[in-house]
Amino acid sequence: MAKLDIITLPDRKLRLKSKLVERIDDEVRAFMDAMLETMYAAPGIGLAGIQVGTPRRVVTIDVAQREDETADPDPLFLINPEVLWTSDERATAEEGCLSIPEYFAEVERPAKVRVAYLDRDGKRQEIEANGIMAVVLQHEIDHLEGKLFIDYISKLKRDMVIKKFTKQQRLGPKPPAF
Ligand SMILES: [Zn+2]
Repeated sequence: MAKLDIITLPDRKLRLKSKLVERIDDEVRAFMDAMLETMYAAPGIGLAGIQVGTPRRVVTIDVAQREDETADPDPLFLINPEVLWTSDERATAEEGCLSIPEYFAEVERPAKVRVAYLDRDGKRQEIEANGIMAVVLQHEIDHLEGKLFIDYISKLKRDMVIKKFTKQQRLGPKPPAF
């Protein structure tokens, strides 16, 4: 399947609340396969449906190669994911987002999470995670609610980022660099 286009700031679709997937069929599976391919090509370690302009509650994640580039891919497909529990303990990590290219900021979130979701076959699964996986799960589930990681930074910094992307969009694509 063809690669999908990733939408970026200031696209207002990023603020949409995504809809539950009612039926898990071949069409949904093919869409998630295309998302995974798009995510790997970006390259990224997580992608939510809305980031390719589709407000459906589907997420692809693969953190296997983040720590070890030679590791085998280990993709995770989550449909209708839901946070069941978060730890009181919090952790800070540097985050980025394929929809906010080349911007990174430290974000504090619960250190551990437990998430329920439906897998590709529609079977209910639960995952408990810490470290980078906990960060990615929370970041992607936020996308389904129209929330972005820049919502956790100061308003001043957030306004600066949004302004930068709005200006870039007005100027059109960057000329080739040489
Ligand atoms: Zn993101």
